[in-house]
Amino acid sequence: MRVGVDLGGTKIELLALDNAGREVWRKRIATPQGDYAATLAAVASLVHEAEAALGERATVGVGIPGALSRVTGLVKNSNSVCLIGKPLKQDLEAALGREVRLANDANCFALSEATDGAGRGARVVFGVILGTGVGGGIVVDGKVLVGPNSIAGEWGHNPLPLPRESDLPLPSCYCGRAGCIETYLSGPGLAADYQRGSGEQLDAPEIAARAARGDARCEAALARYEERLARALASVINLLDPDAIVLGGGMSNIERLYVNVARLWTSYVFSDQVATRLLRNVHGDASGVRGAAWLWDAAR
Ligand SMILES: [Zn+2]
Repeated sequence: MRVGVDLGGTKIELLALDNAGREVWRKRIATPQGDYAATLAAVASLVHEAEAALGERATVGVGIPGALSRVTGLVKNSNSVCLIGKPLKQDLEAALGREVRLANDANCFALSEATDGAGRGARVVFGVILGTGVGGGIVVDGKVLVGPNSIAGEWGHNPLPLPRESDLPLPSCYCGRAGCIETYLSGPGLAADYQRGSGEQLDAPEIAARAARGDARCEAALARYEERLARALASVINLLDPDAIVLGGGMSNIERLYVNVARLWTSYVFSDQVATRLLRNVHGDASGVRGAAWLWDAAR
C-alpha cells in the first residue's frame, strides 16, 4: 500500500492507494499554523490512523511547498515558513520509523498526471501549476527530474519572455525581481493586470466569467493572459521539447486556454509545427497527494 501526504500551508491531506492505484482511504485536516513540531506530529498521526484503519503498513511519500536542498538536506524555497531550514525528511523518518520520500508539490502534480493522469503514456511531461503562485515540475520516463539545486521546472520566477509595451511597467515580485512569469500568470497576476487597466478589483474566476459573457475589458485581460502564457510556454518547449504540458491550479479550469494558447504558441516555438499537447489535468486538487503516493512506485 502507498500513502501520499500533501503537506500544504492550510491543510494536510492523506490518500492511501492500493497496489492497483485505487484510492482506499483519504482524510484531510487543518495544518497546525506556524508550529513545526505539531506539523510533524499531525503527519505521523494521520499515517498511523490510515494504517490502523487498513491493517497494513504503507510506503510514505510527502509533497511539500518547497524543496529539499541537496546540499544541506534542509527545506528551502517554502512559503510555509516554519518548514524552512528544518530537517523534515529525517524528522518524519524518525517519527514514522521508515524511509520517507519528499518532493516539491508541483513535482508531485507533474508525477501524478504523468503516471495515470492527462500525461499518461507521454515520455516527457511538464506539469504547470497556475494558481496563487506559478510552479512547475518535469517528469521523464515516469521519474521526477531533480537537479542539483532542486529547482527543475521552476519557471515561475523566470522573466516573462519578449516583454512588450502592454507588459510594462514590469510588476515587482516577492522574490525581489520584477517581471517574473508568476506576476502575470498566477490568478492574482491576472487580477492585478485587470486592475491596472480598469481600476476595478475582480478575482480571476470572475474575470473569466465576465469575459465569457462578452465583457470587453475582461475579454482583453484574458486575451493578454493567453498571449503571455503562450510566450512563456513556448520558451519551455524550445528548451525541453516535452510531449505534453499539463495545466493545474485554479487557472487551469478556464477551458478556452487549451485551444487559444496552443494556437498562439506556434508563433514563438522554433519549429514549423508544434506536436506538444496542452492538456487539462485529470486529477484536479487530488494530483498533489496522488503524486506523493507515486513517489514510491515499484517501477522506479
Ligand atoms: Zn519572482
